[in-house]
Amino acid sequence: MSLLFRLIFIAILVFLGWRLWNHNAVGRVGSDITQQLLNPKAAYCQSPLGWRLGALDPAFNLTEVQAIELITTAANMWNDTTGRTLLVHDPKQGFVIDFKFDARQQQVLQQRLLQRNLARYDDAIQPGLQTLPEKFAELDAKVAAFNQKNAQLQQQVAQWQPNAKNAETQRHQLEQQQQSLVREANWLEQQRQQLLRDRDYLNETIRQRNELVQASAKPAAASFEVGVMHIKQQQRQMTLYAFSSTTDLIATIAHEFGHAFGIEHTQEPDSIMFHQLNAQQQRLTDADLKAWQTTCQAG
Ligand SMILES: [Zn+2]
Repeated sequence: MSLLFRLIFIAILVFLGWRLWNHNAVGRVGSDITQQLLNPKAAYCQSPLGWRLGALDPAFNLTEVQAIELITTAANMWNDTTGRTLLVHDPKQGFVIDFKFDARQQQVLQQRLLQRNLARYDDAIQPGLQTLPEKFAELDAKVAAFNQKNAQLQQQVAQWQPNAKNAETQRHQLEQQQQSLVREANWLEQQRQQLLRDRDYLNETIRQRNELVQASAKPAAASFEVGVMHIKQQQRQMTLYAFSSTTDLIATIAHEFGHAFGIEHTQEPDSIMFHQLNAQQQRLTDADLKAWQTTCQAG
């Protein structure tokens, strides 16, 4: 073979190798992911499939026992839903599940802190949003009643006759009513000022909350891989990068287990095999079971 031919041949081999590797790496991301098909389908379905815990970065603050428990919970989701022993803990020969700590978990922790801070702002904002409009409406009603009383008094003052029999007594009464109304007007004004201060405080709190959201809004905030399943020449390897709660972690592990069988992504957001991790994913759904049956031809 000429050198040129050999170079092209090597280039094709490298390209094929790269394609194979990439086709078999299915990551779990926050936003969209190209849905790579794992082929041949049934080749990945032999069961039971053994797994074992590999590297567990201490920064995750999980003991090995806890990690194994969580993985077992995720594995049992598949075992219970299919009624078969698809996944077993095999500490010697199972495929490796690594917990790898990097910037992703840092970001998850930051997001969790942000959520807590936002919740504090919301606790301060919500009551005000509910009660302030009511208080302003109550004040408006009191002002309307005051205006009515004031108009009546003005009418009485206009009708007052200096030469009438009880003119002095009437004048005295009108003056007393007037003083009482002045006191009420002052009180209403105080109420109004207080409500305006409450409103300003509420607006300022809302402004600070929005500022916090804007300061922490990063376009790629939730769109990194939290777990990935590598399959290369029937060799599986799962890596977990980040989780914000054990519920999320179990859902991610169950999702990657699905990929271990060659299952593709589903369209239903509440299914474990949906591409994006979300709070609706609590258990395997009919869509997940169907995806497993289709992939593993067990239907
Ligand atoms: Zn996936």
